[in-house]
Amino acid sequence: MARPVIAIVGRPNVGKSTIFNRIIGDRLAIVEDKPGITRDRIYGTGEWSGRSFSVIDTGGIEIDGEDGMLRLVRMQAELAIEEADLIVFMADAKSGVTNADEEVAQILFRSGKPVVVAVNKVDNLQRMDDIYEFYSLGFGDPIALSGSHGIGIGDLLEACIERLPVGEDQEYDDDVIKVALIGRPNVGKSSLVNAILGEERVIVSEIAGTTRDAIDTPFVKDDQRYVLIDTAGMRKRGKVYETTEKYSVMRSMKAIERADVVLVVINGEEGIIEQDKHIAGYAHEMGKASVFVVNKWDIVEKDDKTMQHFTNSIRDHFLFMSYAPIVFLSALTKSRLHRLLPVIDRVAEQHAMRVPTHLLNDVVADAVAITPPPTDKGRRLRVNYATQVSVKPPTILIFVNDPELMHFSYERYLENKIRAAFDFEGTPLRLFTRRKS
Ligand code: GDP
Ligand code: GDP
Repeated sequence: MARPVIAIVGRPNVGKSTIFNRIIGDRLAIVEDKPGITRDRIYGTGEWSGRSFSVIDTGGIEIDGEDGMLRLVRMQAELAIEEADLIVFMADAKSGVTNADEEVAQILFRSGKPVVVAVNKVDNLQRMDDIYEFYSLGFGDPIALSGSHGIGIGDLLEACIERLPVGEDQEYDDDVIKVALIGRPNVGKSSLVNAILGEERVIVSEIAGTTRDAIDTPFVKDDQRYVLIDTAGMRKRGKVYETTEKYSVMRSMKAIERADVVLVVINGEEGIIEQDKHIAGYAHEMGKASVFVVNKWDIVEKDDKTMQHFTNSIRDHFLFMSYAPIVFLSALTKSRLHRLLPVIDRVAEQHAMRVPTHLLNDVVADAVAITPPPTDKGRRLRVNYATQVSVKPPTILIFVNDPELMHFSYERYLENKIRAAFDFEGTPLRLFTRRKS
């Protein structure tokens, strides 16, 4: 079951990103005390009462050419309606219900999606009275919040969980490899889908709904079943998408969320831009396997060093994803296309790989013997035991005398040793430390 998506909408400055950061618990995200800061995180995952969900801060979605506040908020709301399972409509106790709030409420109301009204900046009990007027928005009990003080977050999440729809999504068998194609418009995602489907011995299912703009295309090759999740297919669907072509974050998120393997498609002719990094970063954070696909290789002027240069450039830009293989190809001429599916198979396999505990412990013990953990104020980390607790992505628990003593650089070292032994090509690895002597 795919994780449900909760989107936060509301006027600028009501505190969306503050609350967003509280929900995802990321203390590192920056909320500066001035309006209109750009956010570099607008997506995260949260958990409440054992249910996990994705959260999107729509305030961080830029919409080209939209500088009017009301139009911007309206578009963000429309995107949220299209993509989210539940909407948190955030307002500000200090300013009360504004005209813009009422207008957005109308749009949300008509959508029929579940909406929770959250009133932020209720910083003290005196302010509690200010929330009553928000009943007039028509979405039931408003939830009082103070982002600054971290008050009300639990109530908000409780209200969300109560209203979230349960298990509606159709999903695929576990042995189906789900592949999402993400990348900016025009990098060639649709062309690549067509090229893959046009390959020899690919059998595309004739199931209902497999139309030109279907988002999912199941197919079989050499007895392996796949589903292509194409984010480009949705472009043709609605007005909002056309205008937000540049920042099609939400639909990329959802596609990544449902995938095992993410193809980060890059236009070889243009090189790497910031947005590619953001998108790839999400795949990494969500624990998906990734492959960089450098498309349009046919029109790149090449000599014998071009591929190496491009490879170096990808490695420089995506430092945190050095595990992801790179495939250069042309969807148009189909040159090198035959290399792609085997790479997808390989990273999907590694993403689902389980390493036996005794082998893992041998590797970790050797690593510790070669380079013992450094001491910290006279205390030394002791690594006692390691075991892989889950797959997709492979997740390893390391039991130590004191998790506080595990430093980032040593964790990196252990990860490198584990990769050197078992590879885990194409997949992020998650290492967690737990106390156990
Ligand atoms: P967004 O534009 O809706 O995402 O709003 P931000 O999260 O960027 O917050 C806008 C401003 O409101 C910032 O200066 C925050 O520090 C401030 N703010 C956020 N939450 C609260 C709160 O609960 N109380 C008060 N007094 N200020 C808040
Ligand atoms: P999408 O928006 O990412 O789905 O991109 P499209 O598949 O619609 O492709 C955008 C444009 O790039 C179209 O004109 C394609 O014909 C062209 N294109 C796609 N792949 C290639 C390729 O490998 N080489 C060349 N030269 N053009 C390509």
